[in-house]
Amino acid sequence: MNETATQLTAPLRARAEIDLGALRANVRALRALAPGAALMAVVKSDAYGHGAVPCARAAVAAGATWLGTATPEEALDLRARAGLPDGVRIMCWLWTPGGPWREAIEADLDVSLSGMWALEEVVDAARAVGLPARVQLKADTGLGRNGCQPGDDWAELVGGALRAEADGLLRITGLWSHLACADEPGHPSIDAQLVLFREMVAYAEERGVRAEVRHIANSPATLTRSDAHFDLVRTGIAVYGISPSPELGSSADFGLRPVMSLKASVALVKQVPGGHGVSYGHHYVTPGVTTLGLIPVGYADGIPRHASGTGPVLVGGKWRTVAGRVAMDQFVVDLGGDELEAGAEAILFGAGDHGEPTAEDWAQAAGTIAYEIVTRIGTRVPRVYVNEVVGEGGPGVGPEVVPEIIPGYEGDDVAQGSDVKRSGT
Ligand SMILES: *Cc1c(COP(=O)(O)O)cnc(C)c1O
Repeated sequence: MNETATQLTAPLRARAEIDLGALRANVRALRALAPGAALMAVVKSDAYGHGAVPCARAAVAAGATWLGTATPEEALDLRARAGLPDGVRIMCWLWTPGGPWREAIEADLDVSLSGMWALEEVVDAARAVGLPARVQLKADTGLGRNGCQPGDDWAELVGGALRAEADGLLRITGLWSHLACADEPGHPSIDAQLVLFREMVAYAEERGVRAEVRHIANSPATLTRSDAHFDLVRTGIAVYGISPSPELGSSADFGLRPVMSLKASVALVKQVPGGHGVSYGHHYVTPGVTTLGLIPVGYADGIPRHASGTGPVLVGGKWRTVAGRVAMDQFVVDLGGDELEAGAEAILFGAGDHGEPTAEDWAQAAGTIAYEIVTRIGTRVPRVYVNEVVGEGGPGVGPEVVPEIIPGYEGDDVAQGSDVKRSGT
């Protein structure tokens, strides 16, 4: 019995089950939607809380040829630990002065440059290491966050990078940008950013840049704007099976399946009289004689305190609502007189097709986005991987994870043959 199987049968306080079969199917679905582009699985922030190494391996097994992280530390960690097949590119984009440029060059990362300070630092590091850096120049086409402003700033960055390339200190591998409002189809900024991106790319190419990839699409643009796909799409949330925004459509509308299910073991069930205050501040008072269930996860585990009084949980076959405040380690649900055993399964969220709420339901309950719900699940909650294929989990990655070329999306391995015991549905 392997570790995962042991964890599945052990009575855990709480666990986040990560369905790698669903993740692989999502990657295939996204590749089918953007057939002319390579796919980057964005695995920043520990793969949006799902676990960077297993998710990176699964994404690569399903045909992702790029992995993206925010920080260089995340990218270096993946290169060191994920045992990826040769040729898988890793890009990171959130640099600060004094960052690990030398380590990044030695680890064959693609690094993003938004300004001259970064160009100067990467060139110094390349001289020191004696190897050219792989750099991608980031244009701010309107997001107003990272990226180089159009006009003189862009001209200076492109010119400086080309001189360093001529000196053999770097190779310009990419030209890229990021969209501000891709989750609001029809927002005028999308077209405006695409126009400016084309102009800034054209400027760089006229000066002599020969990039391997030009890219601007995140998940919402990948799902809704094929004219934004260019050579590479950078998909994050969609890889984890979550729609970037409920207004765009549901996961199922896009052929995606949520990867994370958050489950807990009911810690206590007890009968209480009417008029009994529940949890800090007594914001819930039992309307009559009832049973209360104690759910042993709280805001330290990433359960939003803003979901006090609103968050949904499937317990004993019914949706219950957080009664009163979410505390650091626990919250309470009113079981309405149902007599459940301690140890009964509580499903906070999952794929949604076994009657359980979804991360999107929690996002609505807490007034946030589903990205934040999954990403904030704390380190105290063990991740348990299901539907892993041979080669993904081992210390060495064998030929099994060389990208499978499986065109289209059949959902072949979605939740099929899962050995996860489901609640009585
Ligand atoms: C996080 C991120 C992405 C992925 O965004 P999703 O909406 O999750 O697909 C893509 N590009 C950049 C620069 C990012 O920071």
